[in-house]
Amino acid sequence: MVVADNVHKHYGRTHVLRGIDLEVRRGEVCCVIGPSGSGKSTFLRCINHLEKISAGRLWVNGQLMGYREKGGRLHELRESEIAAQRREIGMVFQRFNLFPHMSVLANVMEAPVQVKRVPRDEARGIAMDLLERVGLADRATAYPEQLSGGQQQRVAIARALAMSPSLMLFDEPTSALDPELVGEVLDVMKDLAEGGMTMIVVTHEMGFAREVGDTLVFMDGGVVVERGTPREVLGSPQHERTQAFLSKVL
Ligand code: ATP
Ligand code: MG
Repeated sequence: MVVADNVHKHYGRTHVLRGIDLEVRRGEVCCVIGPSGSGKSTFLRCINHLEKISAGRLWVNGQLMGYREKGGRLHELRESEIAAQRREIGMVFQRFNLFPHMSVLANVMEAPVQVKRVPRDEARGIAMDLLERVGLADRATAYPEQLSGGQQQRVAIARALAMSPSLMLFDEPTSALDPELVGEVLDVMKDLAEGGMTMIVVTHEMGFAREVGDTLVFMDGGVVVERGTPREVLGSPQHERTQAFLSKVL
């Protein structure tokens, strides 16, 4: 489903991703942990081509992200082709990024109507189903500022799902939340995972990683240091760097 082959990313002279190799299978929940600055967010942004990689290859659903390969050389796709690839990928960030001037329902309907040209009535039906799924159907007419952070993040998840993505990327979706609101967002993510969604989740929530994750990846210094089941990585980390990191966070 997602294959990263020797992915590098430079920002000017800063070499942030230094050869990421990773495979995430369809239906897998892959949790990613690692110290600040290790490149977790950069890697997620590379997956949907919000950042261009400097070297290597990244495939999603068997498609090379952002490029066409011809005679061993990469040619960047047109904006419209990149947009089509991105539609397959939902992304949820630490900050909720809802449109503040739109109701909850309008937020969830926006992309299907504007991007996919789904008729409004149909989009409204889909959006209400999704709001139901994240437990917020009764807040459909509210505006983002009238919601708690946890509710806003659940709307953000519903909004991403409205495009029927085949892959969901989460970048620390609960780190900006008050502790008592974390659980409701993780519950929605768990539900999504149980429904078979392929997910890559950058998180500090070790309980979630242990319970919901199929695989756990430890990143440090722009590489994947260790990958295994959560039980393996948390229970008997093989690398010194993983051990050192876990001893600080567990
Ligand atoms: P955190 O846990 O703090 O979110 P992270 O693992 O997500 O960290 P990244 O945000 O991917 O780390 O950043 C990795 C490195 O890349 C950092 O050193 C950061 O300063 C650098 N970096 C990220 N984005 C840019 C940018 N747009 N321009 C220059 N450097 C950047
Ligand atoms: Mg980050």
